[in-house]
Amino acid sequence: MENKDTILKQVFGYDTFREGQEILVESTISGRDVLGIMPTGAGKSLCFQVPALLFEGITLVISPLISLMKDQVTALNELGVHAAFLNSSLTERQYQKAVENAAKGQYKIIYVAPERLLSASFQGLIRAVEISMVAVDEAHCISQWGQDFRPSYLKIVEFIESLPRRPVIAAYTATATKQVKEDIICILGLHNPEVVVTGYDRKNLYFSVKKEKNKEALLLEYLRKNKEKSGIIYCNTRKTVEEVERTLSQEGYPVTRYHAGLSDAERRQNQEDFIYDRKPVMVATNAFGMGIDKSNVRFVIHYNMPKDLESYYQEAGRAGRDGEPAECLLYYSGQDVKINEFLIHTQTDNQELQPEQRELIQERDQERLRKMTFYCFTNECLREYILRYFGEYGGNYCGNCENCLTEYEDMDVTEEAYHIIRLVLTSRERYGINAVLDAVHGSDTAKVRQFRLNQNSEYGSLRERTIVRLRQILNDLLVKEYLYLTPGDYPVLKITDAGRRLLTDTEQPGGQEKILLKLPKEQRPSPDSKTGKKKKKAVETRYPDLFEQLRRYRYERAQKEHVPPYLIFSDKTLKEMSTYLPVTEKDMLEINGVGKVKYEKYGEAFMQIIQGYAENL
Ligand code: ADP
Ligand code: ZN
Repeated sequence: MENKDTILKQVFGYDTFREGQEILVESTISGRDVLGIMPTGAGKSLCFQVPALLFEGITLVISPLISLMKDQVTALNELGVHAAFLNSSLTERQYQKAVENAAKGQYKIIYVAPERLLSASFQGLIRAVEISMVAVDEAHCISQWGQDFRPSYLKIVEFIESLPRRPVIAAYTATATKQVKEDIICILGLHNPEVVVTGYDRKNLYFSVKKEKNKEALLLEYLRKNKEKSGIIYCNTRKTVEEVERTLSQEGYPVTRYHAGLSDAERRQNQEDFIYDRKPVMVATNAFGMGIDKSNVRFVIHYNMPKDLESYYQEAGRAGRDGEPAECLLYYSGQDVKINEFLIHTQTDNQELQPEQRELIQERDQERLRKMTFYCFTNECLREYILRYFGEYGGNYCGNCENCLTEYEDMDVTEEAYHIIRLVLTSRERYGINAVLDAVHGSDTAKVRQFRLNQNSEYGSLRERTIVRLRQILNDLLVKEYLYLTPGDYPVLKITDAGRRLLTDTEQPGGQEKILLKLPKEQRPSPDSKTGKKKKKAVETRYPDLFEQLRRYRYERAQKEHVPPYLIFSDKTLKEMSTYLPVTEKDMLEINGVGKVKYEKYGEAFMQIIQGYAENL
């Protein structure tokens, strides 16, 4: 008898459901509507694919992204599941053919673009078949509050009402704000849905921020140590993409590029080269990545700081979809903040906005940028910072980010803080960061002279401290909100209530308030160095050279079959194979990620390699 567990094991090759999946699957099977809110990579598709295979009739999956549909259908076909997609990428003849096949009941799962739902041919089709479930992927597109409102999503409602029998409705999204959630339930008309929200934490991702001046050298150094791995390097402009791509290919790395300035054909080609691991390193703007489910991306490097943490976490989250350790590195420079500020103030995308609305949006964006910048300066756990931003609370030590793995010591900087804030006060809160730093440091710059800061009583009061240290302290005062920066083109420093309290407190004998700045003890240990606390290691394989052999074979086979390598088996699956050395059908089916159909297709070939290897041990 087939049930959700046998389907999970036999078709998908997995032993256990991930967090949230089981309850969503069970509720769906029992006929209850569901809403699943899970971060990218958590495994949403499985939640509707498993029930789809247990239902009598057909499941329609509504999805806005053509590339995603194609990917998922290819993946399902690889698993031996009959599935197809109906969207504008098909020719009229292909489309008609697919509809005919569907009417004959040849597909269990059909992916369809929302625009098609009310078309005559599609309406004809659904009269001829039984629809058991409608799964709405990227369900936030129905809400005007979401990042990506699509009016065509409103057609889903009309479509469902037009069906002779109401199917189960399953909605999925990664966007978790309250308004979006309420909109989905209300507009889609979900009946008493089971709502499941799973954590945003991705434990296998390692986070780190780098502030070295020479980003190029940093990147080359990283790639030198991480040859053979697949990764994405995000840049903020097309020009930077071009430059970085050129440098890396001159150095002989297998890179490709992606941005909106390339022709459709080149973008498609480059994306394929990346997915098929012909060129496993992608340099791209944020135009790249929507709907890309490449599970073996081992690193995502942001060569520039993005505009907000929403973008950052979404892009960084493309690493480690297979659950194996992966790295998310951000290369920060002050220039990135300036460019983002410029973009916020020159944003004219939405012509429909009233001036007040536009101002409100700018303020909101400015605040998001501020939080993104603080991420680069916090000395607390980076994961905790991100989770807190999304309204979750983790522990304050994750053990898998750069800050947690660096030993810090607290340094009392109350005195320095006092002088900095006092300079801001006595110069009547009119100057920006650099002028203030130069003044307390006692530098003799043109600005200092022009603003007559050299006549201020605090001028040179922190002469013995380096500018770098003073900048750290000032940043800390911003993060801890003793000072803030005004928005706009010429941000100036202002003092908050907390800052004023600090001044009075410090001036009183026996003042209590202390400002402790966390500073790294000596040098920061690099994550893979022997010193310092060890970072979580990749699940090691027992026989790495066998792993390499299997990987090479997978690559050749993938080229032959025209599917991306990770769709044959994931890295994790190959690692298990090269640890447990399965050479019988039974043993092979025990390996995570090997289901019946995959076994029949590829099992024999992989077992032969393993057998050959084992004989020579
Ligand atoms: P999402 O749509 O939530 O971004 P996907 O559905 O694309 O995520 O799943 C991400 C990856 O996780 C896929 O490679 C998928 O095969 C894998 N996956 C999903 N569920 C499981 C599971 N229960 N066990 C192991 N891997 C899983
Ligand atoms: Zn941490």
